[in-house]
Amino acid sequence: MSPAPHQSGQPVEGCVFCQISAGRIPSIKIYEDSVFLAFMDITPQTEGHFLIVPRAHYPVLGEVPEAVLVRALPLAQRLAAAAMAGLGVEAFNLLQNNGAAAGQAVDHWHLHVIPRRDKKEFPFPPGRAADLTKLPFVAENIRLNIK
Ligand code: AMP
Repeated sequence: MSPAPHQSGQPVEGCVFCQISAGRIPSIKIYEDSVFLAFMDITPQTEGHFLIVPRAHYPVLGEVPEAVLVRALPLAQRLAAAAMAGLGVEAFNLLQNNGAAAGQAVDHWHLHVIPRRDKKEFPFPPGRAADLTKLPFVAENIRLNIK
């Protein structure tokens, strides 16, 4: 028999962030409340890189309830400010990967807060000039699907 489909928000066996949330595997926490945890990334892009993770399991942005999302950005603002003050850093990236093609490795939705001291420590290559014959059609494909 195939396993039951995952119910959004329910813990997933084998999910590393569900296990951290349940206290079954260790993490170096900087913050926790009833909805979120924030802990240091185990393979940081820069010194001070941490993750903001809802306790409940939602694989990608599209599945995160609005009630959780509306708390996520104010928390990111607050914790990033603490990191900037505590680490003496004036810049950071707020990053969020959705799907394997976007580099998502842990399919439990999360935000990365990545303190930045130098442009070179974490590549963000410039894009190429847009093809202006295509750009309006690409935009239209998005615009027509806004729900
Ligand atoms: P993403 O590619 O957006 O899914 O990012 C997943 C992040 O989780 C990576 O930066 C990993 O280094 C980090 N990570 C994975 N396992 C752990 C862990 N046990 N403790 C802390 N960070 C972790």
